[in-house]
Amino acid sequence: MQPLKRDGWIELICGSMFSGKSEELIRRIKRARIARQTVQVFKPRLDDRYAADAVVSHNGTLEQAEGVDRAEELLARVWPDTDVVAVDEVQFFDNAIVDVAEELAGRGVRVILAGLDLDFRGEPFGPTPLLMARAEYVTKLHAICVCCGQPATRTQRLVNGRPAHYNDPVILVGAAETYEARCRHCHEVPGKPVKAGMAAARHTTS
Ligand code: ADP
Ligand code: ZN
Repeated sequence: MQPLKRDGWIELICGSMFSGKSEELIRRIKRARIARQTVQVFKPRLDDRYAADAVVSHNGTLEQAEGVDRAEELLARVWPDTDVVAVDEVQFFDNAIVDVAEELAGRGVRVILAGLDLDFRGEPFGPTPLLMARAEYVTKLHAICVCCGQPATRTQRLVNGRPAHYNDPVILVGAAETYEARCRHCHEVPGKPVKAGMAAARHTTS
């Protein structure tokens, strides 16, 4: 009897900005190509920080990618013989990307997703938390905190050099603003509400 071939799973690469997600995604893509696998690379068209048709790492490495508007469009573009589907900036898709990833993995495709796990406010970002739960393999990468040198898990948004307010919109692609990698202790979000129960706890212990 033929051994049952059971390919197909989900890998998620997450972390803050500058943690090396794109670098790691590109590394896995290159290695899959060395293994003569058919690889398709996608990214949401929304993200036009760099090249519209490429995954670009902050260290300058680059991989061609197809820009798609929606998760359903991504699914429709996958060829029948594709072995590996790689997606960067996955946080910008809506929750339909979760079903698309599950569908592809069920068909036998190796699905590699990279994206931010937290937004600039330090809140879970879009579909990434759901993908963390569904993925077989989760890699959480850390950048270096530019303030203290500890591992960074947060993305600091700065507008005119000052920490952005909690109520600023989450997605502001291409605006005149900058981002930094910071650890939890150096991350600043003016206006971030303290959870009711936590405010009471702080009061009791102080
Ligand atoms: P991501 O996709 O997670 O934003 P990239 O793969 O684009 O990350 O970039 C990672 C590269 O960013 C690192 O290899 C390093 O050269 C550079 N870098 C710049 N600032 C930092 C930082 N604060 N911590 C770590 N790497 C940084
Ligand atoms: Zn720090």
